Amino acid sequence: MINQEAQERRDAEAAHEGLHRVVMFGDGHSGTRVEMELPTAPRRRTGSGMSGVDVVDSLSHQERMDLMRQGLLGSVHSWELVTAVDGPGTRMTVFMNGCPLRCLYCHNPDTFQMRDGEPVMAEELMKKLKRYAPIFRASGGGVTFSGGECLQQPAFLARMLRSAQELGIHTCIDTSGYLGRALSDDMLRDTDLVLLDIKSGDPDTYRRVTGRDLQPTIDFAYRLAREGLPGGVDQDKPVEVWVRFVLVPGLTDDLDNVELVAGYAAQMNQIRPGTVSRVEVLPFHQLGRDKWAALGRHYELDDVRPPQPAETEAVRDILRAKGLTTF
Ligand code: SF4
Repeated sequence: MINQEAQERRDAEAAHEGLHRVVMFGDGHSGTRVEMELPTAPRRRTGSGMSGVDVVDSLSHQERMDLMRQGLLGSVHSWELVTAVDGPGTRMTVFMNGCPLRCLYCHNPDTFQMRDGEPVMAEELMKKLKRYAPIFRASGGGVTFSGGECLQQPAFLARMLRSAQELGIHTCIDTSGYLGRALSDDMLRDTDLVLLDIKSGDPDTYRRVTGRDLQPTIDFAYRLAREGLPGGVDQDKPVEVWVRFVLVPGLTDDLDNVELVAGYAAQMNQIRPGTVSRVEVLPFHQLGRDKWAALGRHYELDDVRPPQPAETEAVRDILRAKGLTTF
């Protein structure tokens, strides 16, 4: 057990890029003063490690497998605190290991394999969440499970979503939707927001980008809309969806491809108006390139440049033309 002061220090060390002090009056429930030092969100796609979260490294392979099956243990890459990223408010983003896709532009190739993650007990991660709960409430934030693909570990994710909701913490999953069938109805009820990455609208391009099929993502997208309708399993608190699309020149920027993505997002709103509350067009960048080299993996996008701002805006306009709030 480490004390609060030591924990803050470890957070600070992990952040590498300094701290910002947050002082808030009123935690949304008790009206008490909340003062904490939060690591500044770094400009990278995963956290800087498991600082302040104990990992379990004394388990046999069998014990580890048994605990994972029950959702008591997860394979986690890292976590970080972010503001206005991965959902509203200040959030704890948990990057989980394991992903069935192999996106050419992936920023997190070190999360591809589940076996490469740190074994973390659900209970341990919840302690961390509890600690930040006042900040989440005061800022309108919460927890986001990202990756990798968080749905690769459905039992652990289900347990985390339930526990977070019991604490009144806003929950979000960041997913490609490829494993959408692993999200049970109960998990859907425990999810407030889905960040749905639609990598491409054209099936051939989708396969070229990810190595997998597009259809499971679209099936999942429509289910998210449908289940929030009267009679659906999520009707009492329909899930909100933010669609994300990474714009990669020469790969996903064909305007017909963009039209298809826009069409899928618009169709979700046809099924249930308001399902997709925003679309984010994320310009490709090269920040993940070094990770591929460090892992000895071949990176195909060495020569690809980030899109020009005007190109990104033109793509956003296509989405806006379908009535989608787009950033
Ligand atoms: S889905 Fe995400 S984590 Fe998986 S390969 Fe694609 S970009 Fe990487």
